[in-house]
Amino acid sequence: MKRPLQVTFAQHMTPTQLTMTMFPLSLCPRLAGARLVKKAAALLGAWCLLASSASAQSPAPGVQVQQFTLANGLTLIVKPDRRAPTVAHMLWVRVGSMDEVDGSSGVAHALEHMMFKGTPTLKPGEFSRRIAALGGRDNAFTSRDATAYHQQIPAARLEEVMQLEADRFANTQWDDEEFKREIEVVKEERRLRTEDAPRSQLYEYAYAVAFTASPYRRPIVGWMSDLDAMTSDDLRRFYRQWYVPGNAAVVIAGDVDVAQVRAWAEKYYGRIPAGLTPARKPRIEPAQNGIRQIEHKASASQAYVSLMFKVPQLDISVLKDVPAQASAASRDALALTVLAAVLDGYSGARLDRALTQGADRVADSAGAYNGLLGRGPQVFFLDGVPAEGKTPGQVLAALRKQIDRIAREGVSQGELQRVKTQWVASETYKLDAIFSQARELGSNWLNGFPLDANARVVAQLRTVTAQEVQSVAARYFGDEQLTLATLVPLPPDPNRKPRLPAAASRH
Ligand SMILES: [Zn+2]
Repeated sequence: MKRPLQVTFAQHMTPTQLTMTMFPLSLCPRLAGARLVKKAAALLGAWCLLASSASAQSPAPGVQVQQFTLANGLTLIVKPDRRAPTVAHMLWVRVGSMDEVDGSSGVAHALEHMMFKGTPTLKPGEFSRRIAALGGRDNAFTSRDATAYHQQIPAARLEEVMQLEADRFANTQWDDEEFKREIEVVKEERRLRTEDAPRSQLYEYAYAVAFTASPYRRPIVGWMSDLDAMTSDDLRRFYRQWYVPGNAAVVIAGDVDVAQVRAWAEKYYGRIPAGLTPARKPRIEPAQNGIRQIEHKASASQAYVSLMFKVPQLDISVLKDVPAQASAASRDALALTVLAAVLDGYSGARLDRALTQGADRVADSAGAYNGLLGRGPQVFFLDGVPAEGKTPGQVLAALRKQIDRIAREGVSQGELQRVKTQWVASETYKLDAIFSQARELGSNWLNGFPLDANARVVAQLRTVTAQEVQSVAARYFGDEQLTLATLVPLPPDPNRKPRLPAAASRH
């Protein structure tokens, strides 16, 4: 499953692709199962995504990733991988919906749309046309934590892409009429992906209830009334405030020469004025001390139940060479991630066997996912779709029974070994795709982790013991930290007009 915390997604992505995108450390892209939460996660995570395709080649040994800071504060990360003459170029800005304020929700995502509207030297829409003419493809996404723009292009065209992206980062402009047209596209995106998608709508409300002070309580796409009230200048202010070199990273992976890339970065990105990186307010989520429950009634074919438990997240101490030096919170975050994998990390894992198989199965599908890392507070998710004749309450009870069982009896060495082996395999697989490499490096930068964080985190995950998994199962799944969300299906509304999917943009 995948990063329920963050995204909403383009319709052309499959759950697996979403998984890879949403998991900041990409630890479980290859884990099977998790169809549900995965899907739900997808609904919440990132608006606007382009799927990447993975090659089937084996990873190149010994490729060194290098990081530089330009004089204006912009971070440059380069990972040579010369197995194919292609390059992934990503621009990451450390600003997402969590940096918005009340009344202006959705600004980060709306701005992402406007970043395709041109510069003094580029007409609206011309950016993507130029990338396509160079033989590449491009897209962008906005999550709670970040906004990112990416292109995959033939290696020989990298310089032109860097020039185009640097120009867009520094000089995007649009007229008010253009904004008025595009904000309608954004609203239609909200209608299609949230208001007409009952589970997505359920999660929007669940986040709003689970979080109080944390800006994670607001939807990435924004509340409709905020979109109605949004102005062109709201976006311009947000753009000037956050799109500064010290708040951005350019990540390049593929068939490149590091010295050459660095020279181009200095030439194109290096001339952008430094500006000031804005200070951020902490907005710490207060402790939750009691169950929160919501119910959402909507036209839907099936009921659905989701449990969100607040959990600790990784901190930088997890990267120390000695596992014992990781903080207690980090060890728990790792153990919770292993727990989710034991429950739902592979076909035939515990939730599958207990809930979705056999003549008297309680659920059509069930999932588990742990939010391991992010700029804001993290959540462990359990979810399920009741089978015909079963109720959300029965699915809820069955999900909690599985946690209780692990809390009492622990997990087997065989299960532990299985999920750990899969992680190692998934790390290897992930490196096949240069876009995945760029995304992983960008995520590490975003979270303030070093470039080799993934390998270190996987190494730490392998040290998690059965006792630790049993211990977190016993400590984090009471009612105190729980937000329980239930979708109550209603029959279709005969008066509702069908929407035209063609109205949605690809971002
Ligand atoms: Zn969008």
